[in-house]
Amino acid sequence: MKDFDEALALVLDGLEPLSSEHVSINDAVGRVLAADARAVIDLPPFDRTAMDGYAVRAADVAPGASLRVLGDLAAGGAEGITLEPGTAARISTGAAIPPGADAVLRVEDTQAGEGVVVATATVAEGQHIRRRAEDVSAGDVLASPGDVLTVPRLSALASAGVGVVDVPRTPRVDLIVTGTELLSPGTPPEPGKIYESNSIAVGTLVQQAGGLVVHYPPVPDDRRRTQDIIELGLQGDILIVSGGVSVGPHDHVKPAFEACGVEEVFWRVRIKPGKPLWFGRRGSTLVFGLPGNPLSAIVCTALFVLPALRRLRGEAEVGPYLGRGRLGEPAGPSDNRTTFLISKLVPDADGVPVAYPTERQGSHMTGALGESDGFAVAPHGSGPLPAGAEVDLLRV
Ligand code: AMP
Ligand code: MG
Repeated sequence: MKDFDEALALVLDGLEPLSSEHVSINDAVGRVLAADARAVIDLPPFDRTAMDGYAVRAADVAPGASLRVLGDLAAGGAEGITLEPGTAARISTGAAIPPGADAVLRVEDTQAGEGVVVATATVAEGQHIRRRAEDVSAGDVLASPGDVLTVPRLSALASAGVGVVDVPRTPRVDLIVTGTELLSPGTPPEPGKIYESNSIAVGTLVQQAGGLVVHYPPVPDDRRRTQDIIELGLQGDILIVSGGVSVGPHDHVKPAFEACGVEEVFWRVRIKPGKPLWFGRRGSTLVFGLPGNPLSAIVCTALFVLPALRRLRGEAEVGPYLGRGRLGEPAGPSDNRTTFLISKLVPDADGVPVAYPTERQGSHMTGALGESDGFAVAPHGSGPLPAGAEVDLLRV
Protein backbone atom coordinates (compact mmCIF):
# COMPACT_ATOMS: atom_id res chain seq x y z
CA MET A 1 0.00 0.00 0.00
CA LYS A 2 1.36 3.42 -1.01
CA ASP A 3 1.29 6.59 1.04
CA PHE A 4 -0.64 9.40 -0.57
CA ASP A 5 2.45 11.49 -1.51
CA GLU A 6 4.23 8.53 -3.04
CA ALA A 7 1.17 7.50 -5.03
CA LEU A 8 0.65 11.04 -6.37
CA ALA A 9 4.32 11.27 -7.36
CA LEU A 10 3.93 8.00 -9.30
CA VAL A 11 0.88 9.36 -11.13
CA LEU A 12 2.68 12.57 -12.09
CA ASP A 13 6.02 10.91 -12.84
CA GLY A 14 7.27 11.95 -16.29
CA LEU A 15 3.97 13.60 -17.26
CA GLU A 16 4.29 16.45 -19.75
CA PRO A 17 1.72 18.79 -21.24
CA LEU A 18 0.06 17.37 -24.37
CA SER A 19 1.09 18.60 -27.81
CA SER A 20 -0.05 22.14 -28.45
CA GLU A 21 -2.46 23.63 -30.95
CA HIS A 22 -3.38 27.13 -32.10
CA VAL A 23 -6.66 28.42 -30.71
CA SER A 24 -8.48 31.71 -31.22
CA ILE A 25 -8.56 33.78 -28.04
CA ASN A 26 -12.34 33.65 -28.36
CA ASP A 27 -12.21 29.93 -27.60
CA ALA A 28 -9.30 29.97 -25.18
CA VAL A 29 -10.79 30.92 -21.82
CA GLY A 30 -9.58 28.49 -19.16
CA ARG A 31 -6.98 26.95 -21.45
CA VAL A 32 -3.30 27.07 -20.52
CA LEU A 33 -0.49 28.71 -22.48
CA ALA A 34 2.09 26.45 -24.08
CA ALA A 35 4.31 29.30 -25.29
CA ASP A 36 4.97 32.92 -24.35
CA ALA A 37 2.29 35.32 -25.53
CA ARG A 38 4.00 38.53 -26.68
CA ALA A 39 2.54 41.93 -27.46
CA VAL A 40 2.19 42.54 -31.19
CA ILE A 41 2.16 46.32 -30.74
CA ASP A 42 3.10 49.01 -28.23
CA LEU A 43 0.40 50.03 -25.78
CA PRO A 44 -0.68 52.70 -26.24
CA PRO A 45 0.28 52.24 -29.91
CA PHE A 46 0.75 56.03 -30.33
CA ASP A 47 0.61 59.15 -28.16
CA ARG A 48 -3.08 59.68 -27.49
CA THR A 49 -5.29 61.94 -25.44
CA ALA A 50 -6.81 60.89 -22.13
CA MET A 51 -9.38 63.70 -22.27
CA ASP A 52 -11.83 65.47 -24.53
CA GLY A 53 -10.49 68.96 -25.27
CA TYR A 54 -7.97 70.66 -27.54
CA ALA A 55 -4.56 69.51 -28.67
CA VAL A 56 -2.33 72.52 -28.08
CA ARG A 57 1.24 73.76 -27.71
CA ALA A 58 1.53 74.30 -23.95
CA ALA A 59 3.62 77.44 -24.44
CA ASP A 60 0.69 79.08 -26.30
CA VAL A 61 -1.79 78.53 -23.47
CA ALA A 62 -2.60 81.09 -20.80
CA PRO A 63 -5.94 82.33 -19.46
CA GLY A 64 -7.46 84.54 -22.16
CA ALA A 65 -5.22 83.26 -24.99
CA SER A 66 -7.16 82.68 -28.22
CA LEU A 67 -6.08 79.81 -30.52
CA ARG A 68 -7.23 79.21 -34.10
CA VAL A 69 -8.96 75.79 -34.36
CA LEU A 70 -7.61 73.78 -37.33
CA GLY A 71 -10.11 70.92 -37.21
CA ASP A 72 -11.49 68.01 -35.23
CA LEU A 73 -9.62 64.82 -34.31
CA ALA A 74 -11.79 61.81 -33.47
CA ALA A 75 -10.64 58.47 -31.98
CA GLY A 76 -9.70 56.13 -34.81
CA GLY A 77 -9.02 58.91 -37.29
CA ALA A 78 -5.69 59.80 -38.84
CA GLU A 79 -6.29 63.33 -40.15
CA GLY A 80 -3.28 65.22 -41.47
CA ILE A 81 -3.43 68.15 -39.04
CA THR A 82 -0.12 69.71 -37.89
CA LEU A 83 -0.21 72.39 -35.20
CA GLU A 84 1.56 75.71 -35.85
CA PRO A 85 2.12 78.28 -33.10
CA GLY A 86 -1.18 79.87 -32.08
CA THR A 87 -3.35 77.00 -33.26
CA ALA A 88 -5.26 74.11 -31.66
CA ALA A 89 -7.28 71.08 -32.80
CA ARG A 90 -10.41 69.79 -31.16
CA ILE A 91 -9.68 66.26 -29.94
CA SER A 92 -11.74 63.39 -28.46
CA THR A 93 -10.58 60.85 -25.87
CA GLY A 94 -8.45 58.15 -27.47
CA ALA A 95 -7.52 60.14 -30.57
CA ALA A 96 -3.88 60.47 -31.68
CA ILE A 97 -2.02 63.64 -30.64
CA PRO A 98 -1.25 65.55 -33.87
CA PRO A 99 2.29 66.59 -34.81
CA GLY A 100 3.22 69.91 -33.24
CA ALA A 101 0.99 69.48 -30.16
CA ASP A 102 2.52 68.77 -26.76
CA ALA A 103 -0.46 68.93 -24.40
CA VAL A 104 -4.23 68.60 -24.20
CA LEU A 105 -6.29 71.41 -22.74
CA ARG A 106 -9.45 69.97 -21.20
CA VAL A 107 -12.68 71.17 -22.74
CA GLU A 108 -13.68 72.34 -19.23
CA ASP A 109 -10.75 74.82 -19.35
CA THR A 110 -11.89 76.51 -22.59
CA GLN A 111 -14.56 78.70 -24.12
CA ALA A 112 -15.43 78.04 -27.74
CA GLY A 113 -15.56 80.99 -30.18
CA GLU A 114 -16.05 81.43 -33.93
CA GLY A 115 -13.21 79.33 -35.43
CA VAL A 116 -11.20 79.84 -32.26
CA VAL A 117 -10.97 78.51 -28.74
CA VAL A 118 -10.17 80.68 -25.72
CA ALA A 119 -8.20 79.12 -22.84
CA THR A 120 -9.41 79.73 -19.29
CA ALA A 121 -6.47 77.91 -17.64
CA THR A 122 -2.86 76.98 -18.27
CA VAL A 123 -1.67 73.51 -19.22
CA ALA A 124 1.68 71.82 -18.59
CA GLU A 125 3.67 70.18 -21.38
CA GLY A 126 2.62 66.53 -21.71
CA GLN A 127 -0.57 66.99 -19.71
CA HIS A 128 -3.38 64.52 -20.51
CA ILE A 129 -1.22 62.72 -23.05
CA ARG A 130 -0.86 58.93 -22.76
CA ARG A 131 2.53 58.18 -24.22
CA ARG A 132 3.21 55.47 -26.76
CA ALA A 133 4.45 52.26 -25.04
CA GLU A 134 4.07 53.65 -21.52
CA ASP A 135 2.09 50.48 -20.67
CA VAL A 136 3.53 47.72 -22.91
CA SER A 137 6.20 47.56 -25.62
CA ALA A 138 5.84 45.39 -28.72
CA GLY A 139 7.46 42.02 -27.99
CA ASP A 140 6.90 42.18 -24.23
CA VAL A 141 5.89 38.83 -22.72
CA LEU A 142 2.35 39.23 -21.41
CA ALA A 143 1.85 35.65 -20.21
CA SER A 144 4.01 32.54 -20.05
CA PRO A 145 3.69 28.76 -20.43
CA GLY A 146 1.63 27.33 -17.58
CA ASP A 147 -0.46 30.47 -17.16
CA VAL A 148 -4.19 29.84 -17.25
CA LEU A 149 -6.01 32.12 -19.69
CA THR A 150 -8.26 34.00 -17.32
CA VAL A 151 -10.53 36.79 -18.48
CA PRO A 152 -8.09 39.57 -17.39
CA ARG A 153 -5.25 37.81 -19.23
CA LEU A 154 -7.33 37.39 -22.37
CA SER A 155 -8.20 41.07 -22.17
CA ALA A 156 -4.49 41.98 -22.01
CA LEU A 157 -3.66 39.73 -24.96
CA ALA A 158 -6.52 41.09 -27.06
CA SER A 159 -5.46 44.70 -26.35
CA ALA A 160 -1.93 43.90 -27.43
CA GLY A 161 -3.12 42.41 -30.72
CA VAL A 162 -2.77 38.70 -29.90
CA GLY A 163 -5.62 36.88 -31.66
CA VAL A 164 -4.39 33.30 -31.53
CA VAL A 165 -2.64 31.45 -28.70
CA ASP A 166 -0.62 28.27 -28.44
CA VAL A 167 -2.17 25.88 -25.89
CA PRO A 168 -1.84 22.15 -25.15
CA ARG A 169 -4.78 20.29 -26.65
CA THR A 170 -7.63 19.42 -24.29
CA PRO A 171 -7.13 16.02 -22.65
CA ARG A 172 -9.75 13.44 -23.58
CA VAL A 173 -10.96 11.59 -20.50
CA ASP A 174 -12.99 8.41 -21.03
CA LEU A 175 -15.23 7.56 -18.08
CA ILE A 176 -16.58 4.04 -17.71
CA VAL A 177 -18.79 3.04 -14.78
CA THR A 178 -19.08 -0.67 -14.09
CA GLY A 179 -21.56 -2.66 -12.01
CA THR A 180 -24.51 -4.87 -12.95
CA GLU A 181 -26.47 -3.10 -10.20
CA LEU A 182 -26.18 0.35 -11.80
CA LEU A 183 -29.12 2.31 -13.16
CA SER A 184 -28.87 5.76 -14.66
CA PRO A 185 -30.68 8.39 -12.58
CA GLY A 186 -34.01 9.36 -14.10
CA THR A 187 -34.86 5.82 -15.22
CA PRO A 188 -37.49 3.77 -13.28
CA PRO A 189 -36.26 1.91 -10.15
CA GLU A 190 -35.65 -1.84 -10.52
CA PRO A 191 -35.30 -4.54 -7.84
CA GLY A 192 -31.69 -5.07 -6.71
CA LYS A 193 -30.45 -2.04 -8.64
CA ILE A 194 -29.02 1.26 -7.45
CA TYR A 195 -28.80 4.61 -9.12
CA GLU A 196 -25.30 5.42 -10.13
CA SER A 197 -23.73 8.79 -9.36
CA ASN A 198 -20.10 8.48 -10.43
CA SER A 199 -20.84 9.54 -14.00
CA ILE A 200 -22.14 12.89 -12.85
CA ALA A 201 -19.73 13.42 -9.95
CA VAL A 202 -16.48 12.26 -11.51
CA GLY A 203 -17.48 13.48 -14.97
CA THR A 204 -18.27 16.96 -13.68
CA LEU A 205 -15.07 17.24 -11.64
CA VAL A 206 -13.08 16.33 -14.74
CA GLN A 207 -15.03 18.69 -16.97
CA GLN A 208 -14.69 21.58 -14.51
CA ALA A 209 -10.95 20.98 -14.43
CA GLY A 210 -10.78 21.30 -18.21
CA GLY A 211 -11.05 17.73 -19.48
CA LEU A 212 -13.19 16.60 -22.40
CA VAL A 213 -15.28 13.74 -20.97
CA VAL A 214 -16.40 10.79 -23.05
CA HIS A 215 -19.23 8.94 -21.27
CA TYR A 216 -20.33 5.33 -21.79
CA PRO A 217 -23.50 3.59 -20.62
CA PRO A 218 -22.96 1.58 -17.37
CA VAL A 219 -21.22 -1.75 -18.04
CA PRO A 220 -22.44 -4.92 -16.29
CA ASP A 221 -19.96 -7.04 -14.33
CA ASP A 222 -19.07 -9.26 -17.27
CA ARG A 223 -15.49 -10.02 -18.11
CA ARG A 224 -15.81 -9.82 -21.91
CA ARG A 225 -17.88 -6.65 -22.00
CA THR A 226 -15.65 -4.96 -19.43
CA GLN A 227 -12.59 -5.73 -21.51
CA ASP A 228 -14.17 -4.61 -24.78
CA ILE A 229 -15.22 -1.26 -23.43
CA ILE A 230 -11.89 -0.69 -21.68
CA GLU A 231 -10.16 -1.26 -25.02
CA LEU A 232 -12.34 1.51 -26.51
CA GLY A 233 -11.66 3.83 -23.59
CA LEU A 234 -7.92 3.39 -23.90
CA GLN A 235 -7.87 5.62 -26.97
CA GLY A 236 -7.99 8.81 -24.91
CA ASP A 237 -5.43 10.51 -22.70
CA ILE A 238 -6.94 9.35 -19.42
CA LEU A 239 -9.19 6.36 -18.80
CA ILE A 240 -11.24 6.24 -15.61
CA VAL A 241 -13.06 3.05 -14.73
CA SER A 242 -15.19 3.11 -11.59
CA GLY A 243 -16.13 -0.03 -9.67
CA GLY A 244 -14.90 -3.59 -9.91
CA VAL A 245 -11.27 -2.96 -8.89
CA SER A 246 -11.40 -5.24 -5.87
CA VAL A 247 -10.84 -8.99 -5.79
CA GLY A 248 -14.41 -10.33 -5.65
CA PRO A 249 -15.67 -12.90 -8.16
CA HIS A 250 -17.52 -10.10 -10.01
CA ASP A 251 -14.61 -7.67 -10.13
CA HIS A 252 -13.37 -7.87 -13.70
CA VAL A 253 -11.58 -4.59 -14.11
CA LYS A 254 -8.06 -5.55 -13.06
CA PRO A 255 -7.88 -8.69 -15.24
CA ALA A 256 -9.39 -6.67 -18.09
CA PHE A 257 -6.72 -3.99 -17.68
CA GLU A 258 -4.08 -6.66 -17.75
CA ALA A 259 -5.56 -8.32 -20.83
CA CYS A 260 -5.58 -4.94 -22.58
CA GLY A 261 -1.90 -4.46 -21.82
CA VAL A 262 -2.27 -1.81 -19.14
CA GLU A 263 0.70 -1.93 -16.80
CA GLU A 264 -0.03 -1.61 -13.12
CA VAL A 265 1.87 1.15 -11.31
CA PHE A 266 0.17 0.78 -7.94
CA TRP A 267 -2.90 -0.62 -6.28
CA ARG A 268 -4.10 0.65 -2.92
CA VAL A 269 -3.31 3.90 -1.19
CA ARG A 270 -3.25 4.68 2.53
CA ILE A 271 -6.32 6.94 2.37
CA LYS A 272 -9.90 6.59 3.56
CA PRO A 273 -12.07 6.51 1.59
CA GLY A 274 -10.28 5.45 -1.58
CA LYS A 275 -7.94 2.69 -0.47
CA PRO A 276 -8.59 0.33 -3.44
CA LEU A 277 -7.46 2.94 -6.01
CA TRP A 278 -5.64 1.30 -8.93
CA PHE A 279 -3.35 3.18 -11.29
CA GLY A 280 -1.53 2.08 -14.41
CA ARG A 281 -0.50 3.16 -17.88
CA ARG A 282 -0.70 1.89 -21.41
CA GLY A 283 1.61 3.89 -23.62
CA SER A 284 0.79 7.52 -22.93
CA THR A 285 -2.72 6.76 -21.60
CA LEU A 286 -3.13 7.08 -17.84
CA VAL A 287 -5.52 4.54 -16.38
CA PHE A 288 -7.34 4.95 -13.08
CA GLY A 289 -9.44 2.20 -11.52
CA LEU A 290 -11.57 4.02 -8.96
CA PRO A 291 -13.42 2.26 -6.16
CA GLY A 292 -17.13 2.39 -6.99
CA ASN A 293 -18.26 3.94 -3.73
CA PRO A 294 -19.26 7.49 -4.60
CA LEU A 295 -17.21 9.17 -1.86
CA SER A 296 -14.14 7.14 -2.71
CA ALA A 297 -14.58 7.99 -6.38
CA ILE A 298 -14.86 11.71 -5.62
CA VAL A 299 -11.88 11.79 -3.25
CA CYS A 300 -9.67 9.77 -5.61
CA THR A 301 -10.64 11.98 -8.54
CA ALA A 302 -9.80 15.18 -6.65
CA LEU A 303 -6.54 13.80 -5.24
CA PHE A 304 -5.11 11.94 -8.23
CA VAL A 305 -7.01 12.33 -11.49
CA LEU A 306 -7.32 16.12 -11.47
CA PRO A 307 -3.61 16.80 -10.81
CA ALA A 308 -2.73 14.49 -13.73
CA LEU A 309 -5.31 16.22 -15.93
CA ARG A 310 -3.95 19.66 -15.00
CA ARG A 311 -0.43 18.58 -15.89
CA LEU A 312 -1.57 17.27 -19.30
CA ARG A 313 -3.40 20.50 -20.06
CA GLY A 314 -0.28 22.45 -19.19
CA GLU A 315 -1.02 24.02 -15.81
CA ALA A 316 2.02 24.95 -13.75
CA GLU A 317 0.26 24.27 -10.44
CA VAL A 318 -1.48 20.93 -10.44
CA GLY A 319 -2.76 20.59 -6.88
CA PRO A 320 -4.51 18.77 -5.34
CA TYR A 321 -5.80 22.00 -3.90
CA LEU A 322 -6.16 21.78 -0.17
CA GLY A 323 -7.32 24.76 1.83
CA ARG A 324 -6.60 25.38 5.49
CA GLY A 325 -9.16 25.53 8.26
CA ARG A 326 -9.93 24.31 11.75
CA LEU A 327 -11.89 21.50 13.24
CA GLY A 328 -15.13 22.56 14.90
CA GLU A 329 -15.20 19.43 17.04
CA PRO A 330 -12.78 16.63 17.97
CA ALA A 331 -12.07 14.19 15.12
CA GLY A 332 -9.26 12.04 13.82
CA PRO A 333 -8.23 9.35 11.37
CA SER A 334 -10.37 6.31 11.87
CA ASP A 335 -7.46 3.90 11.34
CA ASN A 336 -3.92 4.05 10.00
CA ARG A 337 -5.07 5.81 6.82
CA THR A 338 -5.27 9.54 6.08
CA THR A 339 -8.97 10.10 6.50
CA PHE A 340 -11.16 12.50 4.55
CA LEU A 341 -14.06 13.39 6.83
CA ILE A 342 -17.23 14.56 5.09
CA SER A 343 -17.78 17.96 6.65
CA LYS A 344 -19.91 21.03 6.74
CA LEU A 345 -17.58 24.02 6.41
CA VAL A 346 -18.76 27.11 8.26
CA PRO A 347 -16.66 30.30 8.19
CA ASP A 348 -15.88 31.77 11.64
CA ALA A 349 -15.92 35.50 12.42
CA ASP A 350 -12.50 35.91 10.68
CA GLY A 351 -13.64 34.01 7.61
CA VAL A 352 -11.56 30.91 8.49
CA PRO A 353 -13.51 27.79 7.51
CA VAL A 354 -14.37 25.55 10.43
CA ALA A 355 -15.08 21.90 9.62
CA TYR A 356 -17.89 20.05 11.32
CA PRO A 357 -17.71 16.39 10.26
CA THR A 358 -21.20 15.06 9.56
CA GLU A 359 -22.54 12.36 11.88
CA ARG A 360 -22.62 9.81 9.11
CA GLN A 361 -19.16 8.94 7.81
CA GLY A 362 -18.28 6.11 5.46
CA SER A 363 -17.65 5.69 1.78
CA HIS A 364 -21.25 4.53 1.17
CA MET A 365 -22.82 7.50 2.99
CA THR A 366 -23.86 9.42 -0.06
CA GLY A 367 -26.71 11.16 1.79
CA ALA A 368 -24.13 12.87 4.03
CA LEU A 369 -22.65 14.47 0.91
CA GLY A 370 -25.89 16.39 0.54
CA GLU A 371 -25.19 18.36 3.71
CA SER A 372 -21.45 18.72 3.18
CA ASP A 373 -19.19 21.31 1.59
CA GLY A 374 -16.06 19.19 1.44
CA PHE A 375 -13.71 17.10 3.52
CA ALA A 376 -11.51 17.74 6.56
CA VAL A 377 -8.24 15.83 6.31
CA ALA A 378 -7.09 13.86 9.35
CA PRO A 379 -3.58 12.61 8.49
CA HIS A 380 -2.69 9.02 9.32
CA GLY A 381 -0.67 8.84 12.49
CA SER A 382 -1.99 12.13 13.81
CA GLY A 383 -4.10 10.45 16.50
CA PRO A 384 -7.25 12.13 17.79
CA LEU A 385 -7.37 15.86 17.00
CA PRO A 386 -9.01 18.33 19.38
CA ALA A 387 -11.62 20.92 18.40
CA GLY A 388 -9.75 23.92 17.01
CA ALA A 389 -6.91 21.84 15.51
CA GLU A 390 -5.66 23.22 12.17
CA VAL A 391 -6.42 20.85 9.31
CA ASP A 392 -6.26 20.68 5.53
CA LEU A 393 -9.58 20.93 3.73
CA LEU A 394 -10.52 19.39 0.43
CA ARG A 395 -13.35 21.16 -1.33
CA VAL A 396 -14.89 19.52 -4.34
P1 AMP B 1 -17.19 -1.78 -6.26
O1 AMP B 1 -16.04 -0.83 -6.30
O2 AMP B 1 -17.62 -2.25 -7.60
O3 AMP B 1 -16.92 -2.89 -5.30
O4 AMP B 1 -18.43 -0.96 -5.69
C1 AMP B 1 -18.43 -0.50 -4.36
C2 AMP B 1 -19.79 0.03 -4.02
O5 AMP B 1 -20.03 1.19 -4.80
C3 AMP B 1 -20.93 -0.91 -4.31
O6 AMP B 1 -21.87 -0.76 -3.28
C4 AMP B 1 -21.50 -0.41 -5.63
O7 AMP B 1 -22.85 -0.71 -5.78
C5 AMP B 1 -21.25 1.06 -5.52
N1 AMP B 1 -21.06 1.65 -6.84
C6 AMP B 1 -20.30 1.16 -7.83
N2 AMP B 1 -20.33 1.97 -8.89
C7 AMP B 1 -21.14 3.01 -8.56
C8 AMP B 1 -21.58 4.17 -9.26
N3 AMP B 1 -21.17 4.42 -10.50
N4 AMP B 1 -22.41 5.01 -8.61
C9 AMP B 1 -22.80 4.75 -7.34
N5 AMP B 1 -22.43 3.68 -6.64
C10 AMP B 1 -21.60 2.80 -7.24
MG1 MG C 1 -18.96 -3.73 -8.23
